[in-house]
Amino acid sequence: MRIKKFTARTEKEAIAKVKNELGLNALILNIRKTKPKGIFSLFRRPVTEVTAAYDDKTGKKPEETSNEQLAAAARETAVAEETEVYKRQRDQIVSLEQKLFAQEQLLSKLTDQLSLNGLSNRSQGARKYDNRVIQVFYDTLVAQEVTPEIAEKVLEDVSAIDDESQVDIKLVSTVVYNTIVSILGPAEPIEPVRTKRTRFVILMGPTGVGKTTTIAKISSILMLYHNLRVGLITADTYRIAAIEQLKTYAEILGLDVDVIYNSQDLENHLEPIVDQNNDVVLIDTAGRSHRNQENFKDLAELLALLPDSTKYLTLSLTTKYEDLLSIANAYSVLTDYKFVFTKLDETSDYGAILNLCYLTGKRMAYITNGQNVPDDIEVAHPENITKALLGIGGAHF
Ligand code: GDP
Repeated sequence: MRIKKFTARTEKEAIAKVKNELGLNALILNIRKTKPKGIFSLFRRPVTEVTAAYDDKTGKKPEETSNEQLAAAARETAVAEETEVYKRQRDQIVSLEQKLFAQEQLLSKLTDQLSLNGLSNRSQGARKYDNRVIQVFYDTLVAQEVTPEIAEKVLEDVSAIDDESQVDIKLVSTVVYNTIVSILGPAEPIEPVRTKRTRFVILMGPTGVGKTTTIAKISSILMLYHNLRVGLITADTYRIAAIEQLKTYAEILGLDVDVIYNSQDLENHLEPIVDQNNDVVLIDTAGRSHRNQENFKDLAELLALLPDSTKYLTLSLTTKYEDLLSIANAYSVLTDYKFVFTKLDETSDYGAILNLCYLTGKRMAYITNGQNVPDDIEVAHPENITKALLGIGGAHF
């Protein structure tokens, strides 16, 4: 099975393109409208994007295709290539625009908030700083559910200027922005490159946070966009549905799933798995209650077998912050890890990300923002999350 995307002005046109190019048996995986980005986006219409899967072994043979169809296919390939170039250019422009506008947005938001505060003399919490600019930052961070202690830490350097007469909005906002970016640190996703040795990546975390879906998203991206060889293992044998779910995604990608019931099983499977010459092997684990250390025993055994693996602690941002913190602490006792934050689409409060990165010192890898495989995942950009925390943008684009 292979996956391909088609875009057109309408859903009907996009599906017609799929059928025309891939034949009637192509499987439609996902249909969505995408909004154009960038400064001229207001003038551009949304497009419909259809993701389709097809079996390249049973695809149409060239001799069955008429000259007319071949010409149509050639036209479509040219359009697809143009779209690819256009997409790359658009992404570059978007990223430049974002950098340019971040500072201006921050300043204009601050100015608005300062004049509002000035008019009503009302602040969300008790007034903490004499300097109104710093107070606005404090209120914004706390409203995003950054804990008051961590908000104070972020503002430590700038709060030395606790004097109205020295308000330099630009300086304060630059320092605050950079402080948050550096607390979050650069993301550490899977390097999408070939390596000599197979890399193992283990996804851990509570039930229902999106581990299996995230594995499906990551493996699709590594395979389809980076041409890497990917292997899948599931140790989530408590839920039959979990195995079936991963197998369904695996089937679309043309992969097998190794099911392991205990660490002994993994030990037996390791050699053949490594022999398959995969670049990356992703391992799904069963959700565990962080309050029951007994539950962690089999996970600890599995981790011990793969000491060089990368571990991702998957956490849903819809979980209560106190629970997120105790989950992160419980897993810290067990192993080192990086964060995958899921379900950003279901919240507008991102404070927990900053709190957890600050308190654990761990780095982020990915954020996920919806149920669509493979689209709703991205490498966590500290700049985007910082902007969201300061109220000047979403944490994902
Ligand atoms: P697991 O038990 O941790 O493996 O979780 P699953 O991968 O089975 O996901 C549980 C549910 O969360 C499923 O309905 C997924 O579609 C959904 N889900 C996963 N990631 C996201 C996300 O980023 N946003 C939203 N809204 N739902 C998600």
